[in-house]
Amino acid sequence: MKGSVPFNIGSGGKKKFLITFDREGCIGAFSCSAVDEKLWEKVPEEGKVNLFGAVLNESGLYEIVLEEGQFSPDAETVCPVNVIKIKEITEEEADEWKRKYNL
Ligand code: SF4
Repeated sequence: MKGSVPFNIGSGGKKKFLITFDREGCIGAFSCSAVDEKLWEKVPEEGKVNLFGAVLNESGLYEIVLEEGQFSPDAETVCPVNVIKIKEITEEEADEWKRKYNL
């Protein structure tokens, strides 16, 4: 995935979320970029989007941890093929995620 993690994940206060994206299953409906164009970068020539700044995990899914306010939670519900998952995680899980990917 091109780009680097675009946002600072602070350590205090704000809720943290793990956003997971199964790019293989993306059909390029671009509903996600319609609600959050900064995070969901259109790649029309591939008929897909990129999850900006995400890392590829061991299961072949792209993922990123962000704080509330840094993304639109609507992306998950508008995707017609359910390839976007947004899950709230604890502060500790967010720190663990950063360590895992040396971020
Ligand atoms: S809404 Fe879903 S299928 Fe459409 S571009 Fe976004 S991730 Fe892909």
